[in-house]
Parts: sequence; structure tokens; C-alpha cells
Amino acid sequence: MSDCIFCRIAAGDIPAEVVAQDDDFVAFADLHPLGPVHVLIVPRRHVASMAELGELPSEVVAGLLPFAARVAREAGVEESGYRLLTNTGPDAGQEVLHLHWHVIGGRPLGGMA
Ligand code: 5GP
Ligand code: ZN
Repeated sequence: MSDCIFCRIAAGDIPAEVVAQDDDFVAFADLHPLGPVHVLIVPRRHVASMAELGELPSEVVAGLLPFAARVAREAGVEESGYRLLTNTGPDAGQEVLHLHWHVIGGRPLGGMA
């Protein structure tokens, strides 16, 4: 989608600090990091949120967790720990309507409240 910021980052049309990528996903540094490590993982194929997960091929869905584990390993937080999360919809405060997962770490993250 040409008007989607994360599609444009995934396509390389908008600069971002890309930390990992493969055929299905791109991982890049969040513009406003919540910790020393804050990486966003987006599928190359545009879907708005988890509500549209069924529009992604099952092999892409299956690839997300291994890719996220790779990102955490390469970001150096595999041992120290990290949080992998996705915001879906208004109550979660989803701002960018291109499905993405946050990998946040590099400091104690506290509770989930
Ligand atoms: P959400 O609230 O939708 O789960 O998270 C959106 C995230 O995208 C936020 O953490 C925000 O800082 C990040 N973000 C928004 N626009 C850009 C951008 O243009 N580049 C990068 N690298 N991150 C962005
Ligand atoms: Zn998009």
C-alpha cells in the first residue's frame, strides 16, 4: 500500500535502521524506542492487524516466531530477556495500521500493567 508507512519502509522507500530481513519479514529500529533495544517486525505483505491474520499465508504466520527469536538473538537480548508484543485495535493503542510486532529489551521491563 503506497500510503502505508511500514509498506514504504519494507520496500526501502523510506529510510529505517533495518536490523534483519528475509523474504517475508523486515525488522527495523523503532523511531521512538522504549528501551535500549526496540525493534519492529513487519510482514512484507500488508495486513492491517491481527484481525486480518487470515490474509497472510500460513507459512508466513509460522515464520514469525522463529524470525522474532532471530531478531532478539541478533539484538543481543536473547539471554537478558525481552518482550514480544503486538497492539491490535483502538483499546491497545495501535497507531500504525500495518501489522507489526515489537521486540523490546535491554533493560528490566517491569510488569505488564
Ligand atoms: P503501535 O502503537 O502501532 O503498536 O506502534 C507503532 C510504532 O511505530 C511506535 O512505537 C512508533 O514509534 C513507531 N513508528 C511510527 N512511525 C515510524 C516510522 O516512520 N519509522 C519507525 N522506524 N518507527 C515508526
Ligand atoms: Zn502496509
